[in-house]
Amino acid sequence: MDYHGVWTIAQEDNGKIREVSYELLTRGRALAEKLGTELSSVLIGNNIDDRELNELIQRGADKVYVVGDSRLKDFIVETYSNVLVDLINEFKPEIIIAGATVNGRSLMPHVAVRVNAGLTADCTELDIEEGTNNLLQTRPAIGGNILATIKIPDNRPQMSTVRVKSARPSPKDASRTGGIIRIGLKDGMIDGRVKKIGFRKAGDEDTGIQDADIIVSGGKGMKKGDNFAMIRKLADQLGGVVGSSRDAVDRGWATYPHQVGLSGRTVSPKLYVAIGISGAIQHLAGIKTAETIVAINNDPDAMIFKVADFGIVGDLFDILPVLNERLKKETELSLSIKSSKK
Ligand code: FAD
Repeated sequence: MDYHGVWTIAQEDNGKIREVSYELLTRGRALAEKLGTELSSVLIGNNIDDRELNELIQRGADKVYVVGDSRLKDFIVETYSNVLVDLINEFKPEIIIAGATVNGRSLMPHVAVRVNAGLTADCTELDIEEGTNNLLQTRPAIGGNILATIKIPDNRPQMSTVRVKSARPSPKDASRTGGIIRIGLKDGMIDGRVKKIGFRKAGDEDTGIQDADIIVSGGKGMKKGDNFAMIRKLADQLGGVVGSSRDAVDRGWATYPHQVGLSGRTVSPKLYVAIGISGAIQHLAGIKTAETIVAINNDPDAMIFKVADFGIVGDLFDILPVLNERLKKETELSLSIKSSKK
């Protein structure tokens, strides 16, 4: 099959590259290196300047294909699909990965059908199979009860969407160089049947958990829903948001948008505090890219301590009030120092 190269689909928002584009480059770089092939990032959107595009190269792309036009300002799946299908037919990439974002989840299936490709949605891991060089696409299946690894041996390109925040953004390397290839929007690409008239978020409660730098999560160890007030207080004092284990959600102590883990949100905070959470494998799957993990648990053998950078073994009902009180005093002290300096 005459297909080669790995593509990642970049996304922009008001002229700024979205972070998920860099997370995909981490994935793409690893695949391209295993295959000994080129990694390209593809951006379809409004006009975007070279400085922004160059960051895709600094973060791992060898080439950036850009179709930038003010008529592509709004994401209209039919139009974007026309453009991407055209690029695929011309350049024949072997693998295409996109974020499992609203755009990625709409665009990739639309395109996959038209180019007769296989697609695996919402992958948590990607790898290359030794010997065949097929893409191994792993994702939770059957209600999250198993992790299925899917491959597409007969069709090209192989297409996947990848969970947002399931990889760290690739670091910037200013010494990297590559090519930016601008491709004009061809006639007939705009599908005029659909127009964007506005944007309203679905009813899902927005916890901000996926973008939060600090998350304080509670689990079954909290014993009852009312005790989550202590979690909320700690989160507020640290300037963070509340997360929870699935067990706490199942018991109605927190709502589903707060759930962290395999069947909840994948998060990537600078600080993750797990309180009364055992650290089941499904919970840990959601915090793999957290920078620093602090755990409070009265069981010294709890799994959470295997991944924690700092652990406190003890009764959370003794520890949390002291911690909250101490933080309150520290805040008051720093506020009074600031006001006395004025
Ligand atoms: P437990 O495992 O019961 O842990 C409670 C912890 O609290 C214990 O470690 C205990 O030592 C500690 N504790 C108790 N009392 C105190 C105290 N006084 N002081 C200090 N510590 C105390 N789980 C998720 O979280 N997210 C998911 O997305 C998710 N998806 C799943 C998908 C599937 C398909 C399946 C099968 C399971 C999934 N789970 C998920 C569930 C997961 O397997 C665990 O059951 C769950 O994470 C346990 O939640 P927990 O840690 O709060 O409770």
